[in-house]
Amino acid sequence: MAAPTRYDLDRGALTELLAGQPRYRVDQVWAGLHEQLAEPEDMTNVPLALRRRLAEVLPDALALTTEAVADGGDTVKWLWTLGDGSRVETVLMHYPQRSTVCVSSQAGCAMACGFCATGQAGFTRHLTSGEIVEQVVRASRRARADGRRLANVVFMGMGEPLANFDHTWAAVHRIHDDLGLGARHITISTVGIVPGIRRLADADLPVNLAVSLHAADDELRNELVPINKRYPLAVLAEACAEHVERTGRRLSFEWALIDGVNDRPQDAARLAAYARGLRAHVNLIPLNPTPGYATRGTPPEGVERFRRELADRGTNVTVRDTRGTSIDAACGQLAASAAVAAPIPRRRPRTADEHR
Ligand code: SAH
Repeated sequence: MAAPTRYDLDRGALTELLAGQPRYRVDQVWAGLHEQLAEPEDMTNVPLALRRRLAEVLPDALALTTEAVADGGDTVKWLWTLGDGSRVETVLMHYPQRSTVCVSSQAGCAMACGFCATGQAGFTRHLTSGEIVEQVVRASRRARADGRRLANVVFMGMGEPLANFDHTWAAVHRIHDDLGLGARHITISTVGIVPGIRRLADADLPVNLAVSLHAADDELRNELVPINKRYPLAVLAEACAEHVERTGRRLSFEWALIDGVNDRPQDAARLAAYARGLRAHVNLIPLNPTPGYATRGTPPEGVERFRRELADRGTNVTVRDTRGTSIDAACGQLAASAAVAAPIPRRRPRTADEHR
């Protein structure tokens, strides 16, 4: 792996780096990185020579490659190039009261869900915790610049966070302990890696769990979400129950509605039964188009019919808004290689902040 980046360093490592400096420097620099979200060059309470040294030894993890804005400025997608040339994307979404960032946990993904652009592209590597945390820092900085407040972090970008558990968990801690977001404002979304869900249930912060279900019978789920062959629905339900019991957090299921595939009445009936046992909330999203998957998303009337079928069975269900579709920033559309090959529409000039 490449040299550690700015947010890969923990406090102990920073203390070592600042050996010979007055002890309060560690606090100053730590607060500079996590509270002011400052670049070392801008930590004006630190002597200039030290600022310069910090800028050198604490390099950024993410180099901005492209930025795209949609939804009247309320959705921003960034494509970053990492130290080794890998590319990942981050999406910031502003809502009236709060902003949410969707972060990537891996470059690419090994889970091979056919309908997902990242799954179509395959796996490159795990992200380090610093590479994950820096996505949140960039988004938070941007939110501040837009007069907003970053309130939620969702691990729903590229990659499978529970296949990169240790780095994901270290990032969660940094986001919680140092960037100051509460555990109830952090959501990990998984394809259903059962050992990871169990570890999460035992972990020391009760974060929200979202499971990308998409089918509630094993035959169809094996097809849509291949990891189901390893961790079938019955086993998945047990792990989810354990998470709910241990953390007290509400579980949610993601369901990308695919026309004629998983939007039939029997799909609603099975999903309602599966969700009922776990008192899970269901998030419906019409499938977003991706280059490698021919089947389309369920049209709006079908989405509404499916929602009603669930609601009539007592399921707690919402339809998720599809943000950023026009800039390939919507759910499942993140695929760095495609984003590079095709210029991103509606790009606007980078601001001074992003140049730094
Ligand atoms: N690997 C994790 C997190 C990344 S995917 C997971 O599977 O949960 C984030 C969400 O987008 C998942 O629910 C995923 O199934 C969904 N998704 C993937 N491709 C999609 C598409 N084309 N349209 C709508 N949702 C999609």
